[in-house]
Amino acid sequence: MQDKYDLIILGGGCAGLSLAMKLSVHGKSCPKVLILERRENYVNDRTWCFWETQSTYLKELTQKRWPDIEIKTAQGSTIVNVKQTPYQMLPAEVFYQAALEAIGKNNNITVQYHAVVQTLPVYSKELWQVVVGSEQYSAPSIVDTRTQKAPQTGGAVLWQSFYGHEIACDREVFAVQTATLMDFDQTDPSLICFCYVLPMSATKALIEITVFAPTPMSADDLGAKLNMAIDRYTQHHPYKIIRSEQGILPMGNHTQRSIDTCKASQNYIYAGLFAGAARPSTGFAFQRIQRWAEQCATSILEKKLPIAHQADSAVQSALDYLFLQVLRAQPKLAPEIFLRLFSNCDSKRIVRFLSDQAKLSDYLAIIFSLPAWPFLKQLPPYLIKNVCRNVAQKKY
Ligand SMILES: Cc1cc2nc3c(=O)[nH]c(=O)nc-3n(C[C@H](O)[C@H](O)[C@H](O)COP(=O)(O)OP(=O)(O)OC[C@H]3O[C@@H](n4cnc5c(N)ncnc54)[C@H](O)[C@@H]3O)c2cc1C
Repeated sequence: MQDKYDLIILGGGCAGLSLAMKLSVHGKSCPKVLILERRENYVNDRTWCFWETQSTYLKELTQKRWPDIEIKTAQGSTIVNVKQTPYQMLPAEVFYQAALEAIGKNNNITVQYHAVVQTLPVYSKELWQVVVGSEQYSAPSIVDTRTQKAPQTGGAVLWQSFYGHEIACDREVFAVQTATLMDFDQTDPSLICFCYVLPMSATKALIEITVFAPTPMSADDLGAKLNMAIDRYTQHHPYKIIRSEQGILPMGNHTQRSIDTCKASQNYIYAGLFAGAARPSTGFAFQRIQRWAEQCATSILEKKLPIAHQADSAVQSALDYLFLQVLRAQPKLAPEIFLRLFSNCDSKRIVRFLSDQAKLSDYLAIIFSLPAWPFLKQLPPYLIKNVCRNVAQKKY
């Protein structure tokens, strides 16, 4: 017996649930959708942060906003006021619950838990066939949001590896109005390593150690540095760990589309973190996934075809990749680069840049706020690499 759907979504994480949520509000016009998700249940496995640049339903879900952000280095520090577009936090459990509630109101959408899709879907008679254990499902279109490959050296220009604990300290040690985006650890100049601190209250905070490096790093690699950072922030007062989270995000990866072009067809779309959602210069993907979900849902409703993440503008991707090349080639300059960026450039421009909404004048202001020499030095190898990449892609 085969179950037939209009659309199968492989993976019900951020991208899969966001797309289903956008479709769910269309009542009976919503196609018949099946989400195949390997988890048995959803837990608070991550904390999404982003800038409040657009008024969306997400505003109601966010749990904390910071009007000030801080960058700290051995050479100096800066606190930037961002109160017009605060940095805000959405715990994954809140998002999952809201998404599942919205999806649950539409009978056309089914979430199949504990469904591990291990075999490649097969295309036959204009339908994709997906096998999970003894069950078989089919649909004319698939949106695949599963991670296709484990992070590995060479898979991205840089990997952003992080590990953190949400802690409760027995003293008031955190400045509640300031999120510390980067507090650089400059003990090893070959490594871009910093601490990220999100204070929920004077006694509670999420403290993470983050490394940008060509090689992905595990929680074990980062554990000792994390413990030292927590001791420093809690001023050695006792604390307890409430929960932990970790991640490895690609910064400038080859998207899944280009890895697997032959398999992808008009109605088999890759989406999510490794398929174009992660912003190369930051690894952040949450807001980009929300934008894609809206566009993809519209396309499914109007044209019956899902769409992939849109490519970034030429200026944005050029700047992002040049930025990554400089960081990769000269990691010891990272503290100075970020400090100058956040100290010299108007915060509204930085937030627009980080949220994919930069105007030409923002790009120019950002370029002029950065130290010129490291970027000029990277320009010739960067141009050569890009020309070769474009030629190779055209041939492919
Ligand atoms: C700890 C953490 C913190 C982050 N913080 C931020 C942040 O602050 N801001 C930001 O913008 N981005 C952040 N990100 C990056 C990005 O927003 C998230 O990774 C986001 O969850 C990506 O969405 P996704 O749907 O691509 O992947 P996921 O949310 O991981 O969803 C993929 C889903 O596929 C399922 N799956 C995988 N394989 C199979 C299979 N074989 N069969 C069935 N199901 C399968 C998984 O169980 C999962 O539910 C963070 C990432 C992590 C890990």
